[in-house]
This record gives sequence, C-alpha cells and structure tokens, in this order.
Amino acid sequence: MGNASPVIVVRPFLPPAAVAHVELLLAGYDLHVRIARPRRTKLGDHRPPATGWTAHRISINANLNPYAFLTTLLHEVAHAATWERHRPRRRVRPHGPEWKREFEAILAPVVGAGVLPDELAAALARSMRNPLAATCSDRGLALALARYDEPPPGRVRVEDLVEGAFFRVEGGQAFRADRQVRTRRKCFECGTGREYRVHGLLFVEPLDAEPTVMARSSQPRRRKTSRRLRRRVGSGPRFG
Ligand SMILES: [Zn+2]
Repeated sequence: MGNASPVIVVRPFLPPAAVAHVELLLAGYDLHVRIARPRRTKLGDHRPPATGWTAHRISINANLNPYAFLTTLLHEVAHAATWERHRPRRRVRPHGPEWKREFEAILAPVVGAGVLPDELAAALARSMRNPLAATCSDRGLALALARYDEPPPGRVRVEDLVEGAFFRVEGGQAFRADRQVRTRRKCFECGTGREYRVHGLLFVEPLDAEPTVMARSSQPRRRKTSRRLRRRVGSGPRFG
C-alpha cells in the first residue's frame, strides 16, 4: 500500500485546469486515494478512518473521463468532509442535506473558477436541486458527463454522423441516420426499414455503404411510432 500524496495520484486523471484547486482541497484532509480497476456498480467510494487507518480512503475508477473523474473525486471528498463535521455519533444519511452542503461548498470554487464547461456546471447545479442528488440514478448528470467520454477506436457518436450515413451498433443492427430529434437521432433499420430513435451520444461504427442485410420481408414495414433503441448511454455505474 503506497502512501503517495493524493494529488500526485489523481493529477494524471484530472482536467489540467482543475489540478491547482484539487491540490488545495485535498491538503485539508488526511486522505488515501486509490485508482481502482473499473467497477460496474460504482464510479468511486469513500471509507472513513477505521481501526488501523487514520486516513479517509477514497477509490475512483481508472477509466473515467477527466470531468467524470473530477466530479467523482469531489463527490467522495464531500463524504470525508461530512464525516469530519458530523462524526460525533450523529447518523447522517450518505447523500442527505449534510453531504449536499459539503458537496456544494466543495463545488462552488471549482465552478466559480470556470474549470468546468458550462453545460456540466449547469447539470451539476440541476443535480443539486434534485432531491435524489448525484446518488442513485441521476441520469441528467450521467449524460452530461458521458459527453466527455473518448470514442473507442473506430467509433463515432450517432449525433456526429451526416444525414443519410449508415452505421452499425454494438450487437450488429445496421441503420441509416436521419435527423436529430432532441437528444435522439431518428434512424431507419437497414433491411426492415423500421424507424428507431437512437441516443445521440451512443458510440457506433460508421459504415461506408448500406450493408447487405437479409430482408425479412420484401416490403419495408413502417411503424407509425418509432421504437427506442435500448443501449446504455449515461446509465453506467453510480457514485458511491
Ligand atoms: Zn456518495
């Protein structure tokens, strides 16, 4: 178990503009930060000092984009701050008003310094007004953070395709992209002509031409209502 200074551990994962703030923030706590192998269930977690440990222990998944990493780190430091302030036996809910106050206080200078892109700062502000805050299924925040994910090799976002472009999703279905409708893209499935709405942030494989698909019937079926393509976008692990 190394005891490298937390800021040295987290620096490579942060947006560069946030490093000075984080360094200042972390200096106020006795913290041990560990970069964890990506977990499916949580982005990070916090454990307070316990027998044999004088420090707070925070872990954060290694595969987060810089803004998701920063948000998760601040979220977990807010747990440490809450524990420090309310430790005298009083039980506080993990994401109750006490935690929220600490998170807001930690967030304020970062937002004030313009470290976060405007849309993300707005999503965080909305998230703080939501009684279910950052806790369980804060999809608005998850989607705002997903926007900064790097595309896997050879993939592009559905919303970045030109109209009429063909693409394939994980799992094999191929589509032709139509116009963007709010957060989703209207698409037609190759072979069946069925209309789908595909989330604009989904990473897909662009195709040079329409793939030859074994048509199930010669007549393309057009449904009156389009169906949603169910793929995970912004519904990954939660804050711990
Ligand atoms: Zn939490």
